[in-house]
Amino acid sequence: MTLDSVDINKVTPMMRQYIETKKQNKDIIIFYRLGDFYEMFFEDAITVSHELELTLTGKSAGLDERIPMCGVPYHAANVYIDKLVAKGYKVGICEQLEDPKAAKGIVKRGMVQIISSGTLFNESLNEKENNYIGSVIDFNYGYAICYGDITTGEIYTFLLEHNPTKLVSEIVSLGIKEVVVSENFSKDVYSLLKNNFKITVSIFDNKTDLEQYHYIYEDISDARLVEAIKYLLSYVNYTQFRDLSHLQKAIIRENKNYLKMDIHTKRNLELTETLRLKQRNHSLIWLLDKTKTAMGSRLLKNFIENPLIDKKEIERRYDCIEKLLEEFILTSDLEKYLLEVYDLERLSGRIAFGSANARDMLQLKNSLKVLPGIKEVLTKIEFYKNIETLEELYNLLDASIYENPPISIKEGYIIKEGYNQELDELKDLRKGGKDFIARFENEERDRTGIKNLRVGYNKVFGYYIEISKGNVNLIKDEYGYERKQTLSNCERYISPILKEKENLILNAEEKIIDLEYQLFCEIRDKVKEYIPKLQYISKVISEIDCLQAFANVSSNNNYVRPKLTDERVIKIIDDRHPVVEQVIESEYVPNDIIMDKDTNILLITGPNMAGKSTYMRQLAITVIMAQIGCFVPARDATLPIFDAIFTRIGANDDLVSGESTFMVEMKEANNAISNATSNSLVLFDELGRGTATFDGMALAQAIIEYIHDNIKCKTLFSTHYHELTDLENNLVNLKNIHVSAHEEDGNITFLHKIKKGSIDKSYGIHVAKLANLPDPLIKRANQILSVYESKEKKRDYIIQEALPLDDLIKEESVVEKELKKINPLEMTPLEAINFLYELKEKIK
Ligand code: ADP
Ligand code: MG
Repeated sequence: MTLDSVDINKVTPMMRQYIETKKQNKDIIIFYRLGDFYEMFFEDAITVSHELELTLTGKSAGLDERIPMCGVPYHAANVYIDKLVAKGYKVGICEQLEDPKAAKGIVKRGMVQIISSGTLFNESLNEKENNYIGSVIDFNYGYAICYGDITTGEIYTFLLEHNPTKLVSEIVSLGIKEVVVSENFSKDVYSLLKNNFKITVSIFDNKTDLEQYHYIYEDISDARLVEAIKYLLSYVNYTQFRDLSHLQKAIIRENKNYLKMDIHTKRNLELTETLRLKQRNHSLIWLLDKTKTAMGSRLLKNFIENPLIDKKEIERRYDCIEKLLEEFILTSDLEKYLLEVYDLERLSGRIAFGSANARDMLQLKNSLKVLPGIKEVLTKIEFYKNIETLEELYNLLDASIYENPPISIKEGYIIKEGYNQELDELKDLRKGGKDFIARFENEERDRTGIKNLRVGYNKVFGYYIEISKGNVNLIKDEYGYERKQTLSNCERYISPILKEKENLILNAEEKIIDLEYQLFCEIRDKVKEYIPKLQYISKVISEIDCLQAFANVSSNNNYVRPKLTDERVIKIIDDRHPVVEQVIESEYVPNDIIMDKDTNILLITGPNMAGKSTYMRQLAITVIMAQIGCFVPARDATLPIFDAIFTRIGANDDLVSGESTFMVEMKEANNAISNATSNSLVLFDELGRGTATFDGMALAQAIIEYIHDNIKCKTLFSTHYHELTDLENNLVNLKNIHVSAHEEDGNITFLHKIKKGSIDKSYGIHVAKLANLPDPLIKRANQILSVYESKEKKRDYIIQEALPLDDLIKEESVVEKELKKINPLEMTPLEAINFLYELKEKIK
């Protein structure tokens, strides 16, 4: 039975309430609170039971047929919600808005939150990554984009040219998990984001002006950006049903302030995950992440994805690393302090969100405790940013919150003695009451002379006095006992004094819990006022945490401070690939990368497996490390500041589906050529190999010439087309280099050493041999190769594909032809001798 087929006038009032809510939230799975369960109905029930492997049952809703239903216990709901959100669904929580006991008629219910991948905010989030949600406004001639992290309150905004590919690349590259767009947004981009990149795309057209968020965009003058920000805020407000006072002022992201890399390049260089396994392990961030705090780890990812181009700012980071390396005692203190610092950014979010509990407060207190220590280190190492140490907040928390509070904030046992007089009095009363009961029991035994008189408690009668049947006659009127209950072997009584104390005890308990909750909320509101300060402290701490990580990695792995030059010169001595060097079992062979003012292109030849790709990547990684302000894996390094890195590395790419590898290759080449400036770095790894030799070689040469004459950027170009090495004679800014290999008895050893000049052998068959292809096959390949090589001497060029097959079949000699014609058994001895004579004549 489907939702639409139901006659709303025939269902129960509760179901009517549900259907009305559901109709307003069609694309959302509604978790409908009924007592201790969240229940889902109709199509939602079918979807959820299928996705989460829950039993699908039925519920009678006043119709002839039972409607589909499934449910989860409310206290375990988060687990189920997370799973649904991870699968791209949106979940709406519909709560009981009044106490069912107090409700007249049907309990009021309403949506309290809509949870989606961009608005998720619980423990399941990866603390090392931001969880971004974004909005896109399409102006027809451009896009305005706003994105932010609800958990930390950061908000960014920027404009983008009207290019759908770039838009998708930006969204994916920024790691935005959910994008909010309008109904009339491009269907192509919508489906690309949703289907190819598994990004949640939410259609939303309900822009509202929210007074309380005005401060977020008040400094921004571009109306388009403001609109994108307001749009995102409207959506967040619409889904979260609460004010998020921790949201920070929006920052305009100026792409021109960062080293540009598109999503292909970031992926190719394995900055935050590896290409094949998509794992953090063995990526650059894996190597560099020696941060101590979750905030630091998130900022590091940001650093790596956005290298700087401002020399002063980069040098400032180097200076700090240098200081940290000099002052290693201070640095080790700093590391200890940082380990104590909790995720203040997300904590601020939880406080604003109203979901922070007493344990969070305790962690906040422990973080605040080390601030004076951190401040001292920062001053000593002359780190320019100052932090407040917030003693008064520390004192407040220290005076108020128990060391071991429960998770729930509605059970008491949160607030320390001495913090609030009324609470202390209530606690005394509770304790006094319990002491009284114990005393009362003894006194009554003495008074009545009944040894086994007992004071007990139950929910129905409260405190009572219990006397066994045999002793009942000892009770006198003057005691004031009043009989309440008769059991088989005893009688139970109450007395006025006991009742009076009982009220006190029970009231005290209830009041304590209420008061503790109220006090906790007051403290939380107090902390709320500190959020902007805590956010600033978070920024400073995460930055010093990143720099401490750089210092740590640099000293452990022998990195060197780069010298940044304004000249167009690269001079890196003994450069290494920092990740490969950690991962390979053998010794890494360092190589110089030298490109003087007049060298713009290095053409790299060398056998497969020699290390061409690694050499190219290590330059890119070295440049990125230098520009994020980290030391670099070399003995000495002089580098210019690059404005962009373009790469064409690797063969298969799933980015733009439905296009052949070669098409992707050409698109990337075009992207590089049309966007690179003379200050960019371009890496083309075996460009052109996706097509026939002539095509590929022709394109490669034309591209090299184009870069050489027009763009003049620093370029590494590896190739198997040895013919291209002749270009060195015509192109003044191009130099040949090669990776050497050592050949002996048909076996090859890779030295991984870069040398000047070119090499004219590919050693493909040697590599095939190393890969253990069958011997006869290798032999045959060598035969074919020698044919090719002899032909090459005759012709100027070879085209492997066009070579006729029978060229490979050895031509028969005259002798062979003649021999085939005769049959010796039919010949006389004389004929045989004559034939032999003729043959001899023919080969003369
Ligand atoms: P190519 O691109 O020339 O085919 P790669 O750059 O892919 O070769 O390198 C092949 C392998 O050789 C790498 O996986 C790496 O393990 C190793 N290698 C490359 N360069 C070095 C080096 N400088 N020192 C040690 N090993 C290296
Ligand atoms: Mg390669």
